Amino acid sequence: MNIILLGPPGAGKGTQAQHLVETRGMVQLSTGDMLREAKTSGTEMGQKVAEIMDAGKLVTDEIVIGLIEEKLMTEKGAGFIFDGFPRTLAQADALAALLAKLGQSLHTVIEMRVDDETLVKRIVNRAEEARAAGKPVRADDNEDSVRIRLMEYYKKTAPLIGYYHAKGDLRPVNGLASIDEVTASIEAILN
Ligand code: ADP
Repeated sequence: MNIILLGPPGAGKGTQAQHLVETRGMVQLSTGDMLREAKTSGTEMGQKVAEIMDAGKLVTDEIVIGLIEEKLMTEKGAGFIFDGFPRTLAQADALAALLAKLGQSLHTVIEMRVDDETLVKRIVNRAEEARAAGKPVRADDNEDSVRIRLMEYYKKTAPLIGYYHAKGDLRPVNGLASIDEVTASIEAILN
């Protein structure tokens, strides 16, 4: 079973993906995590993505699709959870082609719905809490970058909602509910 967690930054995709990894043995493929890893690797590609990510813009499709392809060929588990990918229509088409090549398909796209002001508050709070605890703060977790991330989401990623709706794969959940309630909604959809 391969699923996509689709939603704006701060919607809780990573938290829910983690739960599915623990309870179902699925494999989380987070392009954000992969890119943050690339950022610290000191490679030329890392330097290129760091500037784009910190500003809150989307990294090129070519780079992200390459990262996903590599993981799809090597990781094994009870299905993939795509977290933060696809983020553009070109990425969605590339994912369909890659899965087809592996003889696999997409089961469900879970759309996590949260309003903008809640998203900005969540991310700014997350940064403040990390700072207070002396933990590293994501360079893009500041109000300016969050606003740009949201704009990128509406311009480039939100069209995927229509795309997957038309394919009949889309299942919305209320991302404003508590973490446990969101988990229960996702479980109900997957069961
Ligand atoms: P969030 O969803 O909270 O914004 P992510 O960790 O998913 O955080 O992504 C952080 C950043 O990484 C994005 O703002 C973007 O710059 C880059 N990124 C992640 N996934 C993609 C993707 N699929 N396509 C392009 N850029 C991506």
